[in-house]
Amino acid sequence: MKLIFLGPPGVGKGTQATILAEKLSVPHISTGEMLRAQVAAGSELGLKVKSVLDAGALVSDDLMLEVVKDRLSASDCEKGFILDGFPRTLPQAEALSSLFKEQSLEFDGACLFSVDEKAIAERMASRRAEENRSDDSPEVQAKRIAVYNEQTAPLVDFYRDLSKLIEVNAEGDIDSVTKKLFSALNLS
Ligand code: ADP
Repeated sequence: MKLIFLGPPGVGKGTQATILAEKLSVPHISTGEMLRAQVAAGSELGLKVKSVLDAGALVSDDLMLEVVKDRLSASDCEKGFILDGFPRTLPQAEALSSLFKEQSLEFDGACLFSVDEKAIAERMASRRAEENRSDDSPEVQAKRIAVYNEQTAPLVDFYRDLSKLIEVNAEGDIDSVTKKLFSALNLS
């Protein structure tokens, strides 16, 4: 299956992506994780994006597209993939559609994970305690939610208009969300 995962920061889509990727034996492509790995390795790309990540802002569309294009061209993506964290802006979504068209590739759907804002704040607080990510402070988190509402939320209508939107209620514990996800994808 070829899937896109959409949803606000802290909604738990990375967790679900990991579980589903294992079930389907396809790569889980988290652009956030790819960028953090580059920062940790001190690569040229990492040096370029570190301050952007720390501020909770978005890396430029051109740069992201290059990163994703390169990753999707790897042979392990042939049988499927879960794109987690990309696209995050309308230009990225349009560029991804063009890329799919060029490759005559049909993707299966964009899974939208949603929960109410209070639940997100609670999840972020526990993730902060566990992972110690530099972009998880309350201030940066508020900024990331604002960026999501402004730049990423319009993708919901974009994929709905393409009849590709798959909505998943992400409230409840990990197992119950996984069940809802599998059932939305007709997996058992
Ligand atoms: P989360 O899963 O909490 O929403 P991610 O790990 O996906 O966050 O992303 C962390 C950061 O990486 C983002 O705040 C942003 O700075 C950068 N990033 C990741 N994906 C993209 C993208 N598609 N476009 C621009 N910036 C991105």
